[in-house]
Amino acid sequence: MEIRVLGCYGSQIPGYGLTGFLIDAKTLLDAGAVTSVLTQEEQAGVEHILITHAHMDHIRELASLADNICYLNREDPLTVVGTPLVIETLKKHIFNGIIWPDFSAIPSTEKPVLRYVAIRPGEKLQLGRLSVTVVPVNHKVETVAYVVETGQNEDRVAAIFVGDTGPTDEIWRVAGKVDGIRAIFVETSLPEELRDVAELSGHLTPAGLAGELEKLGPFDHGIYIYHMKIQYREKIRREIDLLRIANTHLLQDGQVIRI
Ligand SMILES: [Zn+2]
Ligand SMILES: [Zn+2]
Repeated sequence: MEIRVLGCYGSQIPGYGLTGFLIDAKTLLDAGAVTSVLTQEEQAGVEHILITHAHMDHIRELASLADNICYLNREDPLTVVGTPLVIETLKKHIFNGIIWPDFSAIPSTEKPVLRYVAIRPGEKLQLGRLSVTVVPVNHKVETVAYVVETGQNEDRVAAIFVGDTGPTDEIWRVAGKVDGIRAIFVETSLPEELRDVAELSGHLTPAGLAGELEKLGPFDHGIYIYHMKIQYREKIRREIDLLRIANTHLLQDGQVIRI
């Protein structure tokens, strides 16, 4: 599995993108950074997008991606995967014919730009070579982690994208049970001095991250940290370094991780 970091920050200024990952060139995880990074050709190759939650910093470039796809001659729609509530939110508040067109009926309902597929905890969805499950996490709005797996038997590898979250439990239990996990992507948005804000907004600080990783237990592969508020990136880096948590890496936009 190849994971390309299109954007890994919790805020945006030139040169720093909001959350967006591209998995094996065909599947996006969130849409904070997509059309501002991928070439037209690369955008045309995207078949699916997994949405963790409907906050603007995770969906905003889905609007421009849908618009671009509209002018590409492609056979299949872009499949938008999310919980029933996330899909309802996208339909009602973004692709509602007021804020932005309803691309599930453009150019026609038979051959639309977007197709919505709901996923609930406990269900497994096959998207090309990837299989995907969701686990609820703890944020201000309904948010899920995605467990993304590929390959068979001993070639099986998996990555977990935890999504925006404050302290949470179930995803760490699941992480302990899934075979072949080679990477975990987890947020750390704010430094310790803003712990109150983190608690109020459903995010983690470095100490919060350490607490979560204790629930995970020993893990020998990469733990990739993202969703840092840019203004505090260096402070977060220093605080994580001081905690000496094994195998943690602060992500940077443009990084490619192969597992
Ligand atoms: Zn959020
Ligand atoms: Zn966010």
